[in-house]
Amino acid sequence: MPFVITDPCIGTKDTACVDVCPVDCIHPRKDEAEFETATMLYIHPDECIDCGACVPACPVAAIYDGIDSTPASQKSLIEANAIFRVGEAETVARAEAIVTSHVAAHPELMAIKPDDRAAAHGK
Ligand code: SF4
Ligand code: SF4
Repeated sequence: MPFVITDPCIGTKDTACVDVCPVDCIHPRKDEAEFETATMLYIHPDECIDCGACVPACPVAAIYDGIDSTPASQKSLIEANAIFRVGEAETVARAEAIVTSHVAAHPELMAIKPDDRAAAHGK
């Protein structure tokens, strides 16, 4: 049951989750080439050990504790988390394309500042 990063990370991307993850499964890190251009961060579902440490670390409640708990409005980002791999231009592009589509599909969420966006996910 992998953890999933969702859209409040867009516009925040502070890497607080990276700092607490014990298995380094959240990317891109600040020292990785993709960091500057990545719209958000992603959790590798096969490497996540479901420890939960990232959830309270996130200042904008962007991380859900599994696919089932990820709200309907954020479901497309489950695949983006699963696809993204640092060092692989093709998977990076595919993940970012999903995020771009998500942003285009949810102007109502993007109009809310990241701190308050998670509160609107279920509405
Ligand atoms: S749940 Fe644990 S292992 Fe998974 S991304 Fe969060 S901190 Fe990393
Ligand atoms: S702590 Fe939250 S906002 Fe910051 S990078 Fe991680 S998921 Fe994104």
